[in-house]
Amino acid sequence: MALTAHSVTQIDTKASSWGWQLRGACRHVSPETFFHPDGERGTVRRTRDERAKAVCSECPVLRQCRDHVLTVREPFGVWGGMTEVERAAHYLASPPLNPGVAV
Ligand code: SF4
Repeated sequence: MALTAHSVTQIDTKASSWGWQLRGACRHVSPETFFHPDGERGTVRRTRDERAKAVCSECPVLRQCRDHVLTVREPFGVWGGMTEVERAAHYLASPPLNPGVAV
């Protein structure tokens, strides 16, 4: 079954909720575009992230992808047009997932 570039790293038991991935613009793009190798930094990393975000910008399911990834707080890769750093900043500005549960 062909899914998005991200499918190789993501296992979800709610398979039926992943239908949007079948329409992702990243389906035919190498996962290496969306996930940095160990030690990648600086301009090389920014350039790869921008390539991935350019794919996302043309994606018909960007909203569904972004909503999903922000909900599950995926820590790795570019998803929904957002880098890891951008999502981390979003999480810091967001209320906790379970405000009534002490951790
Ligand atoms: S928004 Fe980006 S990561 Fe998400 S499905 Fe589309 S191309 Fe893939």
